[in-house]
Amino acid sequence: MNKIIAPITFLLLLITLVPMETLAAEEELTIEQKDEQRLILYKRAEALTNIPWYYLAAVDTYERGLRRVVKDRPREEGLISIFFTPSQWAGPLNPDLEDVDPLSISLFGGLGLDGNGDNEADRNQDEDVLFTFARYLEKYGFNDEDFKIALWDYYQREQTVSIINGHANLYKNYKHLALHEHAFPLPLRANYSYRNTWGDRRGWGGRRIHEGTDIFAGYNVPVRATSYGVIEIKGWNIYGGWRIGIRDLDNIYHYYAHLSGFEKGIEEGEIVEPGQVIGYVGSSGYGKPGTQGKFPPHLHYGMYRDNGYTEWSFDPFPSLKSWERKGFQQLKKQS
Ligand SMILES: [Zn+2]
Repeated sequence: MNKIIAPITFLLLLITLVPMETLAAEEELTIEQKDEQRLILYKRAEALTNIPWYYLAAVDTYERGLRRVVKDRPREEGLISIFFTPSQWAGPLNPDLEDVDPLSISLFGGLGLDGNGDNEADRNQDEDVLFTFARYLEKYGFNDEDFKIALWDYYQREQTVSIINGHANLYKNYKHLALHEHAFPLPLRANYSYRNTWGDRRGWGGRRIHEGTDIFAGYNVPVRATSYGVIEIKGWNIYGGWRIGIRDLDNIYHYYAHLSGFEKGIEEGEIVEPGQVIGYVGSSGYGKPGTQGKFPPHLHYGMYRDNGYTEWSFDPFPSLKSWERKGFQQLKKQS
């Protein structure tokens, strides 16, 4: 009896203990520690392949955002979020979709490679996943244009190529991953007021719901970027008037509308950081370019999420409240 039970108990112990320990280890890491370890992994893959680390960081960050919003994608087991389906990894005709043998994977046309030298190509191992993606990029070359073509072939969506390319520019510019800070869109000492108006019905321009929060303030109060990001759109739109759209590293699009004008140097494709002035509060919109004064001056602030296929708006009010609170805490500390 004992001869049979002992190994079974041992096996059960292993099964229950191992995943719990990995989970616990992961939860103990702070955001800073995760950034640090990820950077080491990206740079190791760069050393092996010559693919710039910030390309890998950009793709990984984009895919981390996807894992948070796409329901049929599991959470990553390690630190790297780049996702390969079993058939992409092992090869579409491979009878063993959990195959980790690099040789048979390559025979069946799978992408999976061994990046950490343990002779297994395991799609749950960070180094294997990064190395595999870096090798994929390598086939296209090493400059920004090659990178964009590789992304287009992989994702087949222009918007995705543009988002990831923006992420890469941010990481290349700042040379690190700690770009999580946020700021309230108006200076905290300015005179402003807002309440939750998300989802309210709109009068002008047919049947629309209100996709944002209106922050009322005087003409020409500075409007600031709320996050690190890349300016995706700047110009006129009949509803939003003079407006700016900024994409951040969580794949979130921040929309600033009804501006009286833009800050100098703010151009499409440029990088911004939290608190940086991008424009000024106004009442532009609801007509042809230059129309203003059809409503009291305010900043219309909207947030949109991207899931790799489509974009949808969500309520920015809780984020605004939290950035405002943190901003006031910081001001208190400084004084
Ligand atoms: Zn509005």
